[in-house]
Amino acid sequence: MMGQILSGKEIAEKIKHETRIELERIKERGISPKLVAVQVGENPSSQVYLNAQKKNCQSMGILYETKNLEPGISESELISFIERLNGDKSITGIILQLPLPSGMDVRKVQSKIAPEKDVEGVNPANLGWILYGRPVLAPCTALAVKELIDSTKVDLYGKEVVMVGHSDIVGKPVALLLVDRFATVSICHIGTSDKGMLEQHVKRAEILIVAVGKAHLIKGDWVRDGAIVIDVGINKLGDKIVGDVEFETAIQHASWITPVPGGVGPVTTAILLRNTITAAKLISFNL
Ligand code: NAP
Repeated sequence: MMGQILSGKEIAEKIKHETRIELERIKERGISPKLVAVQVGENPSSQVYLNAQKKNCQSMGILYETKNLEPGISESELISFIERLNGDKSITGIILQLPLPSGMDVRKVQSKIAPEKDVEGVNPANLGWILYGRPVLAPCTALAVKELIDSTKVDLYGKEVVMVGHSDIVGKPVALLLVDRFATVSICHIGTSDKGMLEQHVKRAEILIVAVGKAHLIKGDWVRDGAIVIDVGINKLGDKIVGDVEFETAIQHASWITPVPGGVGPVTTAILLRNTITAAKLISFNL
């Protein structure tokens, strides 16, 4: 059996198209979304990410600005800066670019972003809404995984889902989003691997999602025949970018599989734009 490639690019284009229509609609009502990204210090890899954000926002017609803060800024100064952005009515969305300088409490700083401006869905209030089954501004990658799965038209009811990785912004929210669709979700992590149980869990998965950040952690022949495989991982292997799943062998078993690059990444970017419009609506219409 040879699986089909689940291209993120097509899904991303569809989301962007819908978002553009929604943006036109709210602009007609006098709302101009503006996204501000806060970066502390210099970081070449986040600079690439910021440039991409800017390009995407501009192509969509969303105002975008980067605020570069000195690397020596204290945590309380950074929080005060974010609070000023929270109070600025012209700003409808805030991104806090990671990493922050060592010693800063990332979760504490993220919790200071006004929930209705938190386009990346990292504030505990927004993560909490997922727990209640009412995601408003959820983490972009978690929503991207859900979009990719839904695009296959699979009925999640009772399906065996295995989520490998339990990070706060990918693994845990994905698991909650899918539990609410009545999938049977197992979450694997380092403890699963250390006990030598990862292969057994993966082999059961009708839907396998992997967000670890270790090249080819999941062997292709572990993939159950007919499984849907969503590979979130991004790893540099020599001069290539690869996922967490051995793609060439996995595609021989999977029904659908996301490529890396070109799978989860483009959909995540499109969801960020959609969340930006959602945030602008939350603020402007007092939702
Ligand atoms: P993270 O916060 O580092 O989380 C990684 C998770 O993997 C943790 O739960 C960790 O468990 C678990 N883990 C580590 N080694 C493991 C092993 N051998 N077996 C099973 N689980 C293991 O990473 P993240 O932010 O979720 O990102 C994961 C990957 O996705 C990275 O490659 C990242 O670059 C990529 N990513 C891609 C996108 C995109 O848009 N395409 C977006 C976000 C992230 P412990 O905490 O217990 O060690």
